[in-house]
Amino acid sequence: MALLEVRDLHVWFALPSGRELHAVKGVGLDVERGELFGLIGESGCGKTTTVLALMGLLPSSASVAGSVRVDGADVLSGGEKGARAHRWTETAMVFQGSMNAFSPVKTIGWQIAEPMEIHGVASRRAARARAGELLELVGIPAAAARRYPHQFSGGMRQRAAIAMALSCEPKLLLADEPTTALDVMVQAQILELLQRLARELHLTVVLVTHDLPLVAHICDRAAVMYGGEIAEVAAVDALYHESRHPYTRMLFAATPELLGGKDVTSIPGSPPRLDQPIVGCAFRPRCDSAVVRCATDHPALAEVARGHEAACHLNDPATGVLSVPDAGQPAGGAG
Ligand code: SF4
Repeated sequence: MALLEVRDLHVWFALPSGRELHAVKGVGLDVERGELFGLIGESGCGKTTTVLALMGLLPSSASVAGSVRVDGADVLSGGEKGARAHRWTETAMVFQGSMNAFSPVKTIGWQIAEPMEIHGVASRRAARARAGELLELVGIPAAAARRYPHQFSGGMRQRAAIAMALSCEPKLLLADEPTTALDVMVQAQILELLQRLARELHLTVVLVTHDLPLVAHICDRAAVMYGGEIAEVAAVDALYHESRHPYTRMLFAATPELLGGKDVTSIPGSPPRLDQPIVGCAFRPRCDSAVVRCATDHPALAEVARGHEAACHLNDPATGVLSVPDAGQPAGGAG
């Protein structure tokens, strides 16, 4: 059984105009224990909304449907109370801005210890001692627990935020753009830290990012989101070398760090508006491989190879107009 099982997850937001924005549309995911899993796509594709739904942290304007299970436990059915019981102890989250979320008037150690006390994981004394151990785990001397946030660099604060997320020993860590606000050297250190923690603690990590090189560097598998849906999911190598969706191929072709000197090709147009109905494939206006049926038929996510799913009509032998790259060949200009 996968540690994280998401089935047919939908999220709608009620807009002041009276319209509804359908931000997440039928997302399904299985993430295995100890896996480092990437959730990637452009801004507005639904990836952050998806992980906020997994944490039960969506605002009251959101409606959620579907099923989320972490280690077999249903996260959504218990409402806010159920989600609160589940946060920190089963699933914890590190945000892009987590390093700025510390209170300036309390020591770092006090703030790392607080969730343990609130959730009854440890007594006050034991929690304070554990805070020092957690700082050591993320590469900060335990004595620094007595310092205040302004006495830490940005990278140290983000490490401390990861330590705090681990304080109640969650099985699943959701990391939403955890390195975006940091300089390149510190980014690499934080990524190495996540990799090490996943390995040493057998922690399952879902890394949400628009940064493909980052995913290529540290993740085992990844899902590509577009227009609130999963466009493709596979092992990272397969996404890169054997992409079965034009959006994935074009994303890689638009990423200079992965092209080894080849020409970068930008993706024309912009992501779809999610407050309006979409007929056919959401990617069609930007797709360089669209066929006639793409304008009318919504492509369903389907297995295209072992452990590899994609939502594109080109994988349907009945379409038979264009073919995707052969397995083993670099996809488009990205390989
Ligand atoms: Fe392009 Fe059609 Fe595939 Fe959508 S279904 S990605 S429009 S080829």
